Amino acid sequence: MNHKVAKFGGTSLANFEAMSRCADIVLSSQSTRIVVVSASSGVTNLLVSLSTGALPATQRNAAIAKISEIQSAIATHLELSSQQLSLIDDLLEKVGDIATSIARLNVGEEQVRTQLTDKLLACGEQLSSTLFTQVLIERGVNAHWLDVRDVMRTSSDFGKATVCIDTVVQLASERITPLLEKQVIVTQGFIGSDEAGNTTTLGRGGSDYSAALLGEATHCSQIDIWTDVTGIFTTDPRITAQAYALEEISFNEAAEMATFGAKVLHPSTLIPAMRCKIPVFVGSSRAPEAGGTIVRNETESKPVYRAIALRREQTLLTVTSMDMLHAPGFLARVFTILAKYNLSVDLVTTSEVSVAITLDNTGSNSGGNTQISQAMLAELEAVCQVTIEKDLALVALIGNAIDTSYGVGTRLFSTLHDVNVRMICQGASSHNLCFLVEGNQATDVISRLHHAMFEQNAQGVA
Ligand code: ADP
Ligand code: ASP
Ligand code: MG
Repeated sequence: MNHKVAKFGGTSLANFEAMSRCADIVLSSQSTRIVVVSASSGVTNLLVSLSTGALPATQRNAAIAKISEIQSAIATHLELSSQQLSLIDDLLEKVGDIATSIARLNVGEEQVRTQLTDKLLACGEQLSSTLFTQVLIERGVNAHWLDVRDVMRTSSDFGKATVCIDTVVQLASERITPLLEKQVIVTQGFIGSDEAGNTTTLGRGGSDYSAALLGEATHCSQIDIWTDVTGIFTTDPRITAQAYALEEISFNEAAEMATFGAKVLHPSTLIPAMRCKIPVFVGSSRAPEAGGTIVRNETESKPVYRAIALRREQTLLTVTSMDMLHAPGFLARVFTILAKYNLSVDLVTTSEVSVAITLDNTGSNSGGNTQISQAMLAELEAVCQVTIEKDLALVALIGNAIDTSYGVGTRLFSTLHDVNVRMICQGASSHNLCFLVEGNQATDVISRLHHAMFEQNAQGVA
């Protein structure tokens, strides 16, 4: 079928007016047959606060009341069936019950906590999808609410589960594709379930990824990501007002942007799209007429400088050992310890006796736990000296042929002649050049680079 998948993010579903704009978008395109929703803005953060188990009962109740308020403000505009009303009541009750159970857990019951957390976080998307289905029905759309956990099969890695794509493809062909001819399927992003039926989540911001997976599994013609910006910009428009929306960008460039911090797309979003060469459109649900960015396999332009991404709160781990000198196996030992604690290595540079590493925290677990545990440090310190530097920012220059173009370094570092660049990585990909600076300099660094690389060019060249 030649259908599209539309994903609406949290701000797009924040209230009834915002949901109505999303309904207009669905109505304006006959080919939109699958709608993937995030939780209404603020709800997942409130649920995350409940999942820590650290809130006293009064604050827990206040958080639950706030969630209920956000959803009731939407519900009052709708004629919900008694079935839908009791589903919403059950979900809100479930939020309270799970939050209480988490608060009563003992130290050491981490496994139970992460499992309950996913169950708790899933309530956000379940609530918003129920409400948005009714918004569509009242606008005359033949909308059908689908529990995505019947299709989105994952591993049992609560907080950041791995998707079993083959099973998802098979389940989608049985449970979604036959409905698409006549109905618009409304379902939840971000959540899934393992083989035993336990609820799982795909990592914060994972609804973009869900949309792409469902697009792949149902062989759609395009994935539309509707958010609060009119496309993918040259850099986060919150950093500099000079940033501008790109008309087009390649899968590789956009994947690097997402990996290196451009929140507009979850880092895994482009994996399904790339596998099946499905174009991804990014636009604003507030201003659909403004157009947006098309992400596709091949772009007409291949500029050296396309965009700048920023990832804050980076930690640099430097491990030093004289054993490393001409000795095989040292790096393997360090990396084995990191892997044991489920830490994925991001940037790496080495010297004669040291290795400096940043740890990838994109799509980190849903509770947002700090990554470097005392247990891991103790294991590392048994084999080497460890230094930790915090509050760094990773800046990534994204483009094409960066590895073979002359003068990139000169242009970059002459612009930053008075900035201490803590670490530089380039060469693994032709699409990026990354470096670390002090966190408090990040905004200034990006504004200056943006000015030097994008504003001095004619717009559209980049
Ligand atoms: P949603 O709730 O719709 O998923 P997100 O908040 O996750 O929306 O992503 C949209 C935000 O991403 C924007 O408001 C913007 O601040 C941020 N962002 C970061 N980098 C970029 C970029 N290069 N282009 C556009 N937006 C970006
Ligand atoms: N609601 C989830 C979050 O806030 C997933 C998403 O919005 O994509 O992380
Ligand atoms: Mg998002």
